[in-house]
Amino acid sequence: MKIISDTFLVSTNKRNELVDITGKVEKALAESGISEGSVIVYCPHTTAAITINENADPDVVHDILLTLSALIPQNRSGYRHSEGNSDAHVKSSILGCSQTVLISGGQMRLGTWQGIYFCEFDGPRKRTVIVQITGQ
Ligand code: ZN
Repeated sequence: MKIISDTFLVSTNKRNELVDITGKVEKALAESGISEGSVIVYCPHTTAAITINENADPDVVHDILLTLSALIPQNRSGYRHSEGNSDAHVKSSILGCSQTVLISGGQMRLGTWQGIYFCEFDGPRKRTVIVQITGQ
């Protein structure tokens, strides 16, 4: 069994943005030489997240961001965190900082319409994504 780690950067352009990183994870998987196992996609940030959702219709990403912003407003009486980005921290914790995808035949077992997204909630920034592939 092998464990291969890779790191790449994601540049975001908006305060709230989902960036499709499926291709970057596929590239790391191809370079790892691992064909059976799993991959963890992890972001070491407190105001960002990793999620898996539809990458066919861009309106889905729009609607996810619209809904998150409605549920978790940027400005809310009662927030105490002095950086002014409490909404970003809450969104990060709700979506989570990692996703796991199974690998079979050298391919991620994503569904037809699934893509892996880096979720920016306090951009624009340069962010780090860590990929750890375990298997044989
Ligand atoms: Zn903060």
